Amino acid sequence: MKPQVEIYDTTLRDGSQGEGINFSVADKLRIAEKLDAFGVHYIEGGWPGSNPKDIEFYAQARRRKFKNARLAAFGSTRKKGVPVESDDQVRLLLEAETPVVTIFGKTSMLHVKEVLRCTPDENLAMIGDTVRFLKDHDKFVIYDAEHCFDGYKLNPEYALATWQAAEKAGADFIVLCDTNGGCLPDEIAAITKVALGKLNCKVGIHTHDDIGLGVANALASLAAGAVHVQGTINGYGERTGNCNLTSVIPCIAFKLKKSCVPAKSLPKLKELSQFVDEIANMRHSPRQPWVGSSAFAHKGGAHVNAVQKLTTSYEHIDPALVGNRRTVLISDLAGRSNIVIKAQELGFPITNDTPELKAILNRVKELENQGYEYEAAEGSLALLIGKTLRHRKVPFTVETYHVSMRRDSRESVCEATVHIRVGKIVHHEVAEGDGPVNALDGALRAALARSFPKLKKVTLTDYKVRILDSGTGTAAKTRVLIQSSDGQHEWGTVGVNENIIEASLQALADSMEYALLKK
Ligand SMILES: [Zn+2]
Repeated sequence: MKPQVEIYDTTLRDGSQGEGINFSVADKLRIAEKLDAFGVHYIEGGWPGSNPKDIEFYAQARRRKFKNARLAAFGSTRKKGVPVESDDQVRLLLEAETPVVTIFGKTSMLHVKEVLRCTPDENLAMIGDTVRFLKDHDKFVIYDAEHCFDGYKLNPEYALATWQAAEKAGADFIVLCDTNGGCLPDEIAAITKVALGKLNCKVGIHTHDDIGLGVANALASLAAGAVHVQGTINGYGERTGNCNLTSVIPCIAFKLKKSCVPAKSLPKLKELSQFVDEIANMRHSPRQPWVGSSAFAHKGGAHVNAVQKLTTSYEHIDPALVGNRRTVLISDLAGRSNIVIKAQELGFPITNDTPELKAILNRVKELENQGYEYEAAEGSLALLIGKTLRHRKVPFTVETYHVSMRRDSRESVCEATVHIRVGKIVHHEVAEGDGPVNALDGALRAALARSFPKLKKVTLTDYKVRILDSGTGTAAKTRVLIQSSDGQHEWGTVGVNENIIEASLQALADSMEYALLKK
C-alpha cells in the first residue's frame, strides 16, 4: 500500500554537514542498510559532485540490494552559461547510477541576482534544462526549491515561475525548502497551500531547525497537503540541524495519524536513533523527544505514583510504540519486547514466552549499566543471546596476551603476542602493527586462522573509541566499537574496560567468534 507521507532521509548528505559528523564510506553503507531495513522511502547518499568519498559510496551502494528504499544522488542545477550535457557536476549525477536524482535550484530573486549573479531567465533555464536532461535519462527527479519560503515572501511571481519551470520540465516532486530555517509554521502552511494550488505535481517539504521549528514546520506543511518530508536521523545537520526524522516520523504516525514507514518499524525507532549516534560517534541526547532515554523518565513523587496508577496520566503516548521505555520500571515488558525483536532479527527463535528471556534481559541490563551499548554491536549481542539460549561452548579462549611498543629515531612499532586455546591445542602468534590494536588484531587473527581458516577473510573495517563518563571516584571507562566485514556482510562488536587495549581485545575476540557463529 502506498504511504500517505513519504520519508526522504538525508542523514548521509545534509546530516553529514553537521559539526562533528564525519562518516566513512563503510559508515554510510551501514547506515543506508539500516535505513532501508527500517523502511524509509528514499536515501540520499551524498553529493557526487562535491567529493570523491560520495562517488565511492555510490559505486559500492550500487552492488547492494535495497528492499524498501530508493537511492538518491544529490546535486545542483547546471552552471550558468554551460550547456547541461557539458556540465561535469550533472554528469556525475548520472554516473552515480541511482534511480532517483535530487537537484536543488534557486527560488529567491535575491540569490539569483546576488549569489548566482545571472539573469532571472537564465536561472529558469538552468532549472528547466537540468530537470529535462535527467528525465531524458529516465531518472525519477526530485526538485529541491532552495530558499523557497524566503524567496516567495520576497517575490511571489518569480518564486512561482521557478517551481513551474521544474514542473514543466517533468519534475516528479517539487520540494519546498526552508533553507535558512527561520520561517514560522503559519507561513510554511500558507505558502505550501499556494504551491499546491498552482502546481499539478506532488509537493514535499525540507526544513531546518534554526529557530527550533524544524519538525513543527514540516508538520505544518504536511497538514497543508505536502506528501513527502525530508530530514535526518537525530536532526543532524548544519548549524542547529535539519528536521529531525526521529521526531517527525512518530508525529506523522501517532499525531497526524497518517501512514509513512511500515507500522512494524515504529518500535525500532529508538534503536535506529541510537545506532546512527553510535556510528557517528555522537553522544546520545537523553532529552531527545520520543527516543531519548529521559523522554519517558519519571522522577519521584506524584508523577511516579500517578503513572503507576494510570500510565496515560503523565505520558503523551505508550513509550513502547517507539521502542522506548519508562525509566521508573513498572514492568520490564518494554525492555523485553525490544530484546525479542532484536533476537528474532538475529535469527534466534525467541518469543515473549521463551524461559531464558528473563536471564538474557538481566544480562543485557547489567552490561548496559557497565557501559556496553548493543545498538551497533549486533555481533556481541548475538553471542550473548546464543550463550544463554543454547548454552553454547565457546570456540576459543584467549589464554594470555602481551602488547608492547618501541620507538627509535625513525619509527615506532607495536608488537602483540597471543596464546589462544582451541580445545586441547594452544596456538601462539606474534604480529607487528601500526598501533597496539592493529598488532593485536593481526596476532589474534593469525592464531585463530590455524584452526579456523575462514577467519582469513574477515577484516576490521572501522574502530571507534568513546570515553564514558566516570562515575563518582572511579576511573573513566573506555568503550570500543569495532566494525568487521567478511566481504559480504558487516557486523559490529563492543568491548568495555578501564583499559583501552583490554576493551579492544574483547571487541576483537567477539568479532572473530561472531564470524564463526554466523553462517
Ligand atoms: Zn537542507
